[in-house]
Amino acid sequence: MLVMDADVAIVGIGTMGSMAAWQLSKTGISVIGFEQFGIGNDRTAAGGESRLFRTAYMEGKEYVPLLFEAKKLWRELEIESSRELLTLNGGLTIGNPDTDVIQSLLRSIYEFDLEHEILQGNEATERFPQHRLFSEEIMVLDKNAGFLRPELAVVSAVERAESLGADIKRYTTVQGIYPGKNGVSIVANDKEFQVRKVLITTGAWTWKLLPRLRNQLIARRLVLTWFAPRNIEEFKPDKFPVFARMRKGYRLTGVPTLDGTMVKASNTKNPSTVSEPDNLNRDVRNEELQEVGEAVERLLPGLLPNPVRASVYMDAYTEDEHSIVGSLPGMDNTFLISGFSGHGFKMSPVIGKIAAELITEGETKHSIEHLDPYRYAKA
Ligand SMILES: Cc1cc2nc3c(=O)[nH]c(=O)nc-3n(C[C@H](O)[C@H](O)[C@H](O)COP(=O)(O)OP(=O)(O)OC[C@H]3O[C@@H](n4cnc5c(N)ncnc54)[C@H](O)[C@@H]3O)c2cc1C
Repeated sequence: MLVMDADVAIVGIGTMGSMAAWQLSKTGISVIGFEQFGIGNDRTAAGGESRLFRTAYMEGKEYVPLLFEAKKLWRELEIESSRELLTLNGGLTIGNPDTDVIQSLLRSIYEFDLEHEILQGNEATERFPQHRLFSEEIMVLDKNAGFLRPELAVVSAVERAESLGADIKRYTTVQGIYPGKNGVSIVANDKEFQVRKVLITTGAWTWKLLPRLRNQLIARRLVLTWFAPRNIEEFKPDKFPVFARMRKGYRLTGVPTLDGTMVKASNTKNPSTVSEPDNLNRDVRNEELQEVGEAVERLLPGLLPNPVRASVYMDAYTEDEHSIVGSLPGMDNTFLISGFSGHGFKMSPVIGKIAAELITEGETKHSIEHLDPYRYAKA
């Protein structure tokens, strides 16, 4: 009989892996985790100080119940770790009401009766003078929105998992995963481990372990940029909600910094493809800085338009920008959670919980049909 190193191995202890480790450890089963870097490091999709949390969801109304469950779990993690991770200071989506994204956002609001306000014209600009509003645009204020502290969240989830018995191996790269009927063998840092089931949460690196998904999970490069306000008071978190703004050519998202001295405002439209995730270009070109600076100058005149800080990260993108969550077709005892396409952080605790349910009970009570791996089964 094979001797098992753990019931479940988690490959990649970044955003989703840390939350899955926390949730799986709560069920009492044994967990071993492998992370190629340290925990809460700045090279993964959890880097860059803050992440937007929104519940009115332009990406699809099917996410709303998941986001409310995620909110509950963020509060649980805050209590368990004695740390503040989620600040709800509201969230503005700004755009033309005739566009698909604003229509989709409004559908999520009306279907779930979400707390919101719709502002336009003078009322909007008097309330949020930081934004220059064009005549055809509206502001939609999501009252259950704000920002998360991503590195601290990952560190907190891992700390909790370890205190519940998880064995998290840092600076340990998984080189191969070999599923079988009776378990899965994993090679990491040239050593072999035997487990009953494996959960793969390797983000932008996923296709390197699962080359058959190379065309389904594309690593993309996102640049974050920070700007200094002319008047700091106007951009403190209590006056300046997080925002997402769509206009032709860019999708500007922004978050005030916690101490209120800076605003992170970044263009996340059409992120470029990274052909080799281990060689991500972390240098930012002048043209990239100028482009986002021009958008900021046009839309947020209270910010000085030259970025004072910039950093580069990656995420895995799917074609439909919905992630892949579930057991992998043709690979026994193997589960995959990847492809969050630039919007997964806010929901990570509920995704961790869903992973734990799928692995321990074989099913989840949450509706995740839109995340079904079988839509890519042909690969
Ligand atoms: C710049 C940027 C801004 C974003 N903004 C938002 C936002 O405002 N709101 C929001 O909700 N979402 C946002 N997202 C999306 C969100 O952050 C990601 O969807 C989410 O963090 C992805 O989590 P993940 O676990 O799939 O990947 P990661 O967090 O990158 O985790 C993958 C982990 O696997 C490890 N790994 C990979 N290969 C191996 C291996 N072979 N062996 C061992 N370890 C391995 C990596 O080191 C890493 O730790 C943003 C993403 C980016 C990049």
